[in-house]
Amino acid sequence: MKRQTDIAVIGGGPAGLSAAVEASSFGLKIEVFDDNFTPGGQLIKQTHKFFGSKKHLCGYRGMDISKILLQNCASAGVTINTEACVTGIYGNILAVLYPERFEEVESKAFVVATGASENCINFVNNDLPGIYGAGAIQTLMNVFGVVPAKKVLMIGSGNIGLIVSYQLLQAGVKVAAVIEALPNVGGYLVHSAKLRRMGVPIYTRRTITKAEGDGNTGVNSAVTSQIDPNFNVIEGTEIQFDVDCICLAVGLTPLSDVLELAGCRMKYIPELGGKVALHDEYMKTTRDNVFLCGDVSGIEEAVTASLEGKLAGLSAALYLSHEYREKIEKSRLQILEELRIFRDGPFGEKARKGNEKLVREYKYER
Ligand SMILES: Cc1cc2nc3c(=O)[nH]c(=O)nc-3n(C[C@H](O)[C@H](O)[C@H](O)COP(=O)(O)OP(=O)(O)OC[C@H]3O[C@@H](n4cnc5c(N)ncnc54)[C@H](O)[C@@H]3O)c2cc1C
Repeated sequence: MKRQTDIAVIGGGPAGLSAAVEASSFGLKIEVFDDNFTPGGQLIKQTHKFFGSKKHLCGYRGMDISKILLQNCASAGVTINTEACVTGIYGNILAVLYPERFEEVESKAFVVATGASENCINFVNNDLPGIYGAGAIQTLMNVFGVVPAKKVLMIGSGNIGLIVSYQLLQAGVKVAAVIEALPNVGGYLVHSAKLRRMGVPIYTRRTITKAEGDGNTGVNSAVTSQIDPNFNVIEGTEIQFDVDCICLAVGLTPLSDVLELAGCRMKYIPELGGKVALHDEYMKTTRDNVFLCGDVSGIEEAVTASLEGKLAGLSAALYLSHEYREKIEKSRLQILEELRIFRDGPFGEKARKGNEKLVREYKYER
């Protein structure tokens, strides 16, 4: 007989762990499946303190937030399976691949919280050794303690690019410059100001056009050029940087394959970073027993991932039992209000618009 559970949570980042804790308070059996050997998602490599209120576990370093969430899971009796890669949801069966075996688990409901993958961009020789995504650099440095290079060119000035640049400096790696295609720096002023104080120039309206080096020794330099408002390269504006590493912090794309495989209706929403599963405001997809939360429902950040996780956990619990309907509905409204407040600033505008589009589409499709 197949192993059985009430709710299978796929992905053990802030979204999945929050969903598991929230759903566990209703007497349900909850299991988390994460493909990494340490659960916590992106948080395990975040050595910096997160902005926000203590209520949302901010003010702590990301890696400590993941420890708190894991302690909460342990106290709530949630089972966490690591090195457990979910390859698909087929009806009510979850297919899980471990390093040495394969398992099928039967579940009454699913919460998909698989996060996002890093974007790449086009330039000559973008497949040379020494070209990494920012998340990969963070994993090398902050999880495995490996210094990735001597001198890095950072592409992208969003918060991830700025934070990882600073962490590289902390690890003794030189950062030649940060290159940004848009007219303005994307991340918070506090992060860009810190870099500038440490002598790292930030170039806007500029992009990388070519990496130089070879397949054996890797990158040895990067060529960048200014671009016009239509993103066309302006000839004669080249600046070459002698670096042995190029770090790409050029956005994330929701990792939504599991949802598509499960038969959820999908929609490409640029504001949310790519193809996402249509869902209502309570995180239910077009399949009644499949819920989603976090970056897989649209790229945002850890607090919104966690709040969406709570919503998804509550909605999955409500799907399985109406015993606590009143309590669950009240909690969901409170969380929706917290999410609304959190997205209310200029940095939340993109996600706000994307989510409104998505919920509208969901109602239309139903
Ligand atoms: C470099 C970087 C810096 C960041 N800095 C900040 C910051 O300072 N402040 C902030 O608020 N946010 C920050 N973020 C964003 C924040 O970390 C994410 O928004 C948040 O972690 C999203 O949570 P999540 O649970 O949706 O996804 P994740 O944290 O990505 O967790 C998803 C988990 O699912 C697992 N998974 C994926 N597919 C499968 C599968 N098929 N089977 C099993 N497991 C699977 C993944 O391995 C991962 O463990 C940063 C992100 C990055 C990449």
